[in-house]
Amino acid sequence: MYNAKSLKAEEFISDEEIKETLAYADANRENFELIDSIIEKAREKKGLSHREASVLLACEDEEKIKQIYELAEQIKKDYYGNRIVLFAPLYLSNYCVNGCVYCPYHMKNKHIARKKLTQEDIVREVTALQDMGHKRLAIEAGEDSVNNPIEYILESIKTIYSIKHKNGAIRRVNVNIAATTVENYRKLKDAGIGTYILFQETYHKESYEKLHPTGPKHDYAYHTEAMDRAMEGGIDDVGLGVLFGLEMYRYEFAGLLMHAEHLEAVHGVGPHTISVPRVKHADDIDPAAFDNGISDDIFAKICALIRISVPYTGMIISTRESQTVRERVLPLGVSQISGASRTSVGGYAEPETPDEVTSAQFDVSDNRTLDEVVNWLMKLGYIPSFCTACYREGRTGDRFMALCKNMQILNCCHPNALMTLKEYLEDYASEETRRIGMALIDRELENIPNPKVKQKAYECIHDIEGGQRDFRF
Ligand code: SAM
Repeated sequence: MYNAKSLKAEEFISDEEIKETLAYADANRENFELIDSIIEKAREKKGLSHREASVLLACEDEEKIKQIYELAEQIKKDYYGNRIVLFAPLYLSNYCVNGCVYCPYHMKNKHIARKKLTQEDIVREVTALQDMGHKRLAIEAGEDSVNNPIEYILESIKTIYSIKHKNGAIRRVNVNIAATTVENYRKLKDAGIGTYILFQETYHKESYEKLHPTGPKHDYAYHTEAMDRAMEGGIDDVGLGVLFGLEMYRYEFAGLLMHAEHLEAVHGVGPHTISVPRVKHADDIDPAAFDNGISDDIFAKICALIRISVPYTGMIISTRESQTVRERVLPLGVSQISGASRTSVGGYAEPETPDEVTSAQFDVSDNRTLDEVVNWLMKLGYIPSFCTACYREGRTGDRFMALCKNMQILNCCHPNALMTLKEYLEDYASEETRRIGMALIDRELENIPNPKVKQKAYECIHDIEGGQRDFRF
């Protein structure tokens, strides 16, 4: 029985409700009166239900899709402005006891190089990341209570936050590790993490069990209920995602939105972010082995529909996607991207050579440097942001959402983006990037509506030039 408020996975992600939703969407895919009314509702910028959004996903009318894209662009501008936040993944360990059939870290893979960073290795990795200009990381690890116990993760977080190299610092560590206990989530919260990210992979229980045949991750309910435990442990910001390609995308899309609705219904706050990874080639993984790969067109449509369905939820695109695809979906509602990522363990300090046995989780499609990504974003009209202010100012969960809803972004996130970009330009940028960035900052400072905030932002930018760092609103 479907119940968004239930704490049982099979009730808040009800298979029956998803199937009925898909049937309803099929029956109404050409019901233009209904489709128009849903698009009208989305224009109010308060989001859509999984049923409404599923109807739009089923609709193939070009004119309606165009309207959806335009609306997604508008909502992105209204809530996120033209900022794009940058981050990098940091792989701590690829030891893993699970059997995920799409992931080369699965236990039976004897070919991949197994690596785990020591705290000294982490210092080297983080120093390399700081030397690029990164301020925000997402740490990644396989599931292995012997090799990667929670104590190891906590110690690593402490190490990461402690490293101050030149003007560098990691100011926000997001964590993408396997589902765990309330007690461990509380420990992560106390360690000062930003978002806890966990991809559902697939919401389809039967497929989930087949795709995770062995190991603790096999337990669908334990995995699906993880965000509730994380929130019970005090983590306000959680990041959802499905791995597109494993199951039918329309099923996943409905499940994803139902999960968001569930978090809102139970905890009063929806997901902080949604990621949209697609299965990629990796060591012993061939994406063609999975039947449900989605085209770039469908991918773009999903991004646009996520944007209009959950306007206050950030959207993340990783370097699994190429420059071309990233360029296409950026305006449709993406708020965060990774840059210059390495998915190998230890790959920032010591990049793997092509003839080495790899430790990487998947092939990266966008191999540009962070400077190239920053430069490209600015040429496309975006403000690359290294801001980490919100959670450091306690603006997490519904307090962050309130900022979004009150449209205070131009007086807060916008100047923060400019100040952190200024730091990047001073400390790490190439000459050309710096030149473009300085002109962009001069232009954008003028767009701050509140005169006092504008004045303060001018002063901070000036002080950054003088060598001071880490200002924030
Ligand atoms: N082990 C943790 C877990 O179970 O959630 C951490 C996550 S893993 C390091 C990060 C994510 O990478 C996975 O959740 C999965 O969605 C994704 N991933 C795994 N194999 C992939 C592949 N071949 N292509 C693209 N993404 C993949």
